[in-house]
Amino acid sequence: MEECIFCKIVAGEINSNIVYEDDKVIAFKDINPEAPIHHLIIPKKHIPTLLDLQEDDKELIGHIYLVASKIAQDEGIAEDGFRVVSNCNEAGGQSVYHIHYHLLGGRNLQWPPG
Ligand code: C5P
Repeated sequence: MEECIFCKIVAGEINSNIVYEDDKVIAFKDINPEAPIHHLIIPKKHIPTLLDLQEDDKELIGHIYLVASKIAQDEGIAEDGFRVVSNCNEAGGQSVYHIHYHLLGGRNLQWPPG
């Protein structure tokens, strides 16, 4: 996906502040953080939206949640609490069409979101 900004981050063509990487996913600091800890966890594979997930992706999505748990513990926000959220399509607030999971913590988060 040549035009996908997150694919370019995966390929190292655009700089990002990577906090975790393995063969399936990377996590990097959001450039516009909404909380003291705000990382994005993304699959290396290009998947535009949650609606494009296939049966074969189930293990990948489970892996993303395990990575979120690991990062939250490593960042010291696990005990106080944190949030993992993924936006889908325009009304859901999605602006980058390569699925990603926001990991937010380090402050008291409000609910419901705006
Ligand atoms: O859920 P949504 O699609 O709106 O989230 C996209 C996120 O990607 C935003 O929080 C934005 O700040 C972040 N972003 C980034 N680095 C980029 C482009 C977008 O961290 N180069």
